[in-house]
Amino acid sequence: MKQVNAYAANQAGGKLQKFQYELKQLGSEQVDIKVHYCGICHSDLSMLNNEWGRTEFPFVPGHEIVGEISAVGAEVKNLKVGDMVGLGWFSESCMYCNQCMGGDHHLCGDTEETIVGRHGGFADSVRSHWSWAIPLPKNIDAAKAGPLLCGGITVFNPIIMAGVQPTDRVGVIGIGGLGHIALKFLQKWGCEVVAFSSSPDKEAQILEMGAHRVINSRDSTQLESIAGSLDFIINTTNVTLDWDAYLTTLNKKGRLHNVGAVLEPMAIPAFSLIGGEKSVAGSPLGSPALTRTMLDFCVRHDIYPTVEIFDLDNVNQAMQHLEDGKARYRVVLKVT
Ligand SMILES: [Zn+2]
Ligand SMILES: [Zn+2]
Repeated sequence: MKQVNAYAANQAGGKLQKFQYELKQLGSEQVDIKVHYCGICHSDLSMLNNEWGRTEFPFVPGHEIVGEISAVGAEVKNLKVGDMVGLGWFSESCMYCNQCMGGDHHLCGDTEETIVGRHGGFADSVRSHWSWAIPLPKNIDAAKAGPLLCGGITVFNPIIMAGVQPTDRVGVIGIGGLGHIALKFLQKWGCEVVAFSSSPDKEAQILEMGAHRVINSRDSTQLESIAGSLDFIINTTNVTLDWDAYLTTLNKKGRLHNVGAVLEPMAIPAFSLIGGEKSVAGSPLGSPALTRTMLDFCVRHDIYPTVEIFDLDNVNQAMQHLEDGKARYRVVLKVT
């Protein structure tokens, strides 16, 4: 038995309080991770507020984890005590379905999610199947790497899926936790990058992060000024937008890719897609292998989220900062 010191909420929207729980014996394919840092993702807040009706209480958030392997099960071949790893939204997948066998473990129908029905990384220790404990490249900045494990891979995977080319013109909708990482990736990818933002006060920072141009998404004449120019747009917001206006900014064969969890159905006029062979797509996170590739790319190009670091003991203040829309641009908790 191993005791974990965590922070948990006892009810939807509740404050996080110190909480201890016992881990059962380590499974043969499992690892324990001593948590060093844990990013705060918007999904932690959604789960805390039980917005998706999937939260079990007491609830320990945290799925952007960077830490050190502290124990390995007997069948674990690739990790040893002391290795630095990252853990994101998923903590296990079945390893035998066609998706897992094809390398798409994030599409497995039988995954375990790090903060669903089990406890996450706002804690001094967290457990995972070996497959999702992603070895970190040497020289990575551990304090800033956590958000890459959820927010980062969520916006990196679509770049690969869509076959984005360095010669492409691309757009990013919503420059927050996910969107600001997407800007940095796409700029290093070689693209001409347009940022769509409704916060003009962020413009200088957005340009500094890699955008070549900022379009005020509330100004329809600005949207019209780039009609037909973008090969790929990634939407990171979770609100209903004027989808047709964005489809108009796409070039022929362009793709509008969604990673924001928009709860309302999207109204997409068929003719806005048909004439230019345009498409609307979506994706969740990415595979363990692509996560490793992304981390290497980040180290090579020095791509990190812009983070604000709070101590774990100030977790409620950190969550409030995010809820108030003040995070610039990702909050990370320093744990141990
Ligand atoms: Zn997340
Ligand atoms: Zn599977």
